[in-house]
Amino acid sequence: MIVARVETFIVTLPRDEPYLGPLGPGESINQRGYVVRSGNGTIYPTVDRSVVVRLTAEDGTIGWGETYGICAPKATCEIINDLLAPVLVGQPVDDAAVIPVIWESLYGLMRVRGCSGGFYGDALAALDIALWDLLGRHVGQPVAVLLGDRRRETIPGYVSGLPAATPAARVALAQRFRSEGHDAFKFAAVVSHGGIVEECAALRAAIGPDAALMVDLHWKFDPADALALARALAPYDLSFIEAPVKPEDVAGLTDVARASPIPVAAGEEWHNLHEARLRLPGAALRYVQPEMGHTGITQFCRIAALAAEVGASLAPHATIGTGIFLAASLHASQTIDRLWRHEWQHSVFSANLRLLETDMAYDNNAYRVPTGPGLGIAPKPAFWAHAEAID
Ligand code: MG
Repeated sequence: MIVARVETFIVTLPRDEPYLGPLGPGESINQRGYVVRSGNGTIYPTVDRSVVVRLTAEDGTIGWGETYGICAPKATCEIINDLLAPVLVGQPVDDAAVIPVIWESLYGLMRVRGCSGGFYGDALAALDIALWDLLGRHVGQPVAVLLGDRRRETIPGYVSGLPAATPAARVALAQRFRSEGHDAFKFAAVVSHGGIVEECAALRAAIGPDAALMVDLHWKFDPADALALARALAPYDLSFIEAPVKPEDVAGLTDVARASPIPVAAGEEWHNLHEARLRLPGAALRYVQPEMGHTGITQFCRIAALAAEVGASLAPHATIGTGIFLAASLHASQTIDRLWRHEWQHSVFSANLRLLETDMAYDNNAYRVPTGPGLGIAPKPAFWAHAEAID
């Protein structure tokens, strides 16, 4: 099977309310439709958006891939169309062993110019996912089967984010989820304008002692402040604090992870094994959170293998997408050792299922992995209503 064509699409889905909830103090939407969150200085779009790739083989087989498109999505499309597609077209994809080789060769094209992350890493992820889907469809097997043993039927999840305007409304939302049977929750410190410890205390009281509770610190602190916060949060029995320090502060992450009274989770921004290797062996992280939209399947599995080697559990990240890279994340999660729970972005996942032909679902605190060959997904007409082809 030979890759014949590579196409890119930007899929844009309007939102009633920005991701992470309503605008906070001093926040506004700029002329390009972005908001800078005052809690961590990070820019976010006010729509849901991703970059989707369609590979077509000479025999007509199709493979779908997807990556981040929330910010400057045309940059990722240009990398694919201008740099990667012309090299990928003509390559044979006959077995699973060839896909990591293709990843290495595409990664190497820009090695001396900075290829280890950012938009280039995202572009590689989209193509890698599409190659696995293409091969799975070609041989009539789910991607999980191509990757190895399926260790579990469903993937346990947790409720991520409580998008509401006030701490009281977020507590009420958590209570509603709890009454519906959800048993694990993560809140976003970046919008805890009334105080992180106060919000944590209120949430713990609301969900009771038996539900898991986590907080995403969104890379917001220096190590000393992160540790002080971890000590203040210790009474509330958190499963983990996530992303306590800036991504580039490798030494700080190690210091916090070793000294924190609460387990530390990190890794959603990593693109590949090289980035994981810098942080994992020394950092004493208890949870690693690979994001399929950044890693692709090949690097997701490599990061998972390294995590297992150093004794960390996997808590895969979930972000804004149509569901294609989420499907890839579920296939990979079905096969890996030491899986804890997979993030469930309720405000994204369930709303976007209408875009795809799939039996993927989330119920009883767990994902159902899509069946069928490849990733077990295909865009429906509703998907194309939101997609723009980018040459
Ligand atoms: Mg996070």
